[in-house]
Amino acid sequence: MLRCSTKIVATLGPASNDPALLEQMIRAGVDVVRLNFSHGTAQDHIDRAKLVREAAMRAGREVAIMADLQGPKIRVGKFADGKIFLQPGQTFILDAARTELGDHEAVGLDYKALPREVKVGDILLLNDGMIEIVVDAVKGEAVYTTVKLGGELSNNKGINKQGGGLSAPALTAKDMEDIRTAMRFQADYVAVSFPKSATDMEMARQLCNVAAAEFNHQPGLIAKIERAAAIPKLEEILLASDGIMVARGDLAIEVGNAAVPGLQKQMIKLAREHDRLVITATQMMESMITNPVPTRAEVSDVANAVLDGTDAVMLSAETAAGKYPLETIVEMGKICLAAERYEDFELDADFSGKTFIRIDQTIALGALFTAHHLGAKAIVAMTDSGSTPLWMSRHLIRVPIYALTSKIATQRKMALFRNVRPLFIDTSTNRDAALSEVDSELKNLGIVQAGDIYAITCGDPMGDSGGTNMLKICQVV
Ligand code: PGA
Ligand code: MN
Repeated sequence: MLRCSTKIVATLGPASNDPALLEQMIRAGVDVVRLNFSHGTAQDHIDRAKLVREAAMRAGREVAIMADLQGPKIRVGKFADGKIFLQPGQTFILDAARTELGDHEAVGLDYKALPREVKVGDILLLNDGMIEIVVDAVKGEAVYTTVKLGGELSNNKGINKQGGGLSAPALTAKDMEDIRTAMRFQADYVAVSFPKSATDMEMARQLCNVAAAEFNHQPGLIAKIERAAAIPKLEEILLASDGIMVARGDLAIEVGNAAVPGLQKQMIKLAREHDRLVITATQMMESMITNPVPTRAEVSDVANAVLDGTDAVMLSAETAAGKYPLETIVEMGKICLAAERYEDFELDADFSGKTFIRIDQTIALGALFTAHHLGAKAIVAMTDSGSTPLWMSRHLIRVPIYALTSKIATQRKMALFRNVRPLFIDTSTNRDAALSEVDSELKNLGIVQAGDIYAITCGDPMGDSGGTNMLKICQVV
């Protein structure tokens, strides 16, 4: 089966808990499974991760698991009737001191700091931006507002401030506990919600480092860019992370819908330039939650993210709670594959004016350049840590990169890298034996045939992290 080189992230939920369905989803093209820590208990996630690993085993394809932390809850409290309806023009009070349940005049706040972080004239958005209220006054713990855009408001709906500026720290006590849970099932990636700066990511890294010894595991860190405050700090956040998520849901509320497509392009470009990964997320195939086919606009959205150069496109409710989880994945894969035919290749431009001083990086890029010019069928990277294929995959090229590793954690992590097909190989440390083993394996898998050229990189001696120092161009006999 011809697979797209763009990776697909699928969120698990009630619609996709069934082991047989999960296996089909992985066969259909899911590369990364996202566990949303906003829902469920620690044990639920541990059980789900086990289901994923078992389904992947049956499907014969390793996938990465991404633990997506809940982050700070900036939410209203609960209502006596579970929900209310806000009319445009009416007044409404958000009161941090209120202990009784809410009604159509006022509601309590989960986020107690709100009154100190808003001022007259600020626009607050409730329920994913569906409701808009403007601040008239702040008196003590109460925020007095007038409703501009009305609608239904139910228990514990989120609050965002237009333009950003709410200060809740990215990592809550629950997140810290959840990082340990994620380490218990060897999550390949941990996604941090609402980071504002590099410090938030460094804190998450520290927590992983502390747990790393105990669990003998080190996950990659993904910063979800979903706050206005993160935009000017993008570069430092990237440097403190392994990748970012263009988290368009919350981001759109803070910066305005119209700003998001442009920011998406900038973020993807900057991530690739810094050798970081990037996932484009939220509402990509939204209508498929209820319909068996996507809208034209959704098809275009997914295709454009592919052409922007994203590593992966993400499904949220479509696979977690939708009616057509499997169909959505199949459709998304088709859109990616079709869009990839129109990719821009700018390998020469990518390299011009750049200096590379690391031996392993120079070999990686040399392999890319050589394979591109020779019309090679494949690039093969024998890798320990995954850094060689990561460097290679930061440049768009039509030659597929096969990343061969004897470390299962590396194999899983690489599932997120665009145009990288991770394979497990149980190599000996003898270089020549390993190379000939790879040669026959490539033929067995039908990746190359007699007469084909492929480029292979490895380290000599083999098995050292960061030890890639060899490039060999092979013609298959
Ligand atoms: P969420 O993050 O689905 O966890 O809210 C993604 C987004 O905000 O787009
Ligand atoms: Mn979000």
